[in-house]
Amino acid sequence: MRNMYHEGERIVYIVYHDSIPHEVMTASEGGYLSWYDFNYFYGDKRDIRWYNSGGGGRLTEIRAPHYIEGTKGVSYWMASDARFKGKPKNCVRVAKPKRIRGWRRTSINPFKVADETLSYGYCDRCDQHVIDECQEHQYWDDENSCVRYYDNNEVAE
Ligand SMILES: [Zn+2]
Repeated sequence: MRNMYHEGERIVYIVYHDSIPHEVMTASEGGYLSWYDFNYFYGDKRDIRWYNSGGGGRLTEIRAPHYIEGTKGVSYWMASDARFKGKPKNCVRVAKPKRIRGWRRTSINPFKVADETLSYGYCDRCDQHVIDECQEHQYWDDENSCVRYYDNNEVAE
């Protein structure tokens, strides 16, 4: 299999939730990792966006994914030279990266079917990832610089 790249770094690890990328790691030549969150937005499974959530750790010491008993639909792909620290729980390894369907095209490279977002949130009233606020349930509280729910003024995560 040909290597997949993002901004010059090799894609080494992909976690899928129901065949949609959820977490991706890339490695520099020295084996240092960058981490990316992937989610689909507003309930649209083709509207996938990624967020650079940081970096650190080494290719040979990726923290093994742990999912609770009974979790369904979680799988992962990892490069042949990547190694876990610990043992994965309640998820399945796939031999090849999955083909992902985005708006414009399909690709096995998650970055090619997704757009970058510099921030994102979540609305638990409609169980959806949102770019800014959920128009229906949330508002931006300017005074405290946070997103709140209309119904009880609770701060959204
Ligand atoms: Zn909502």
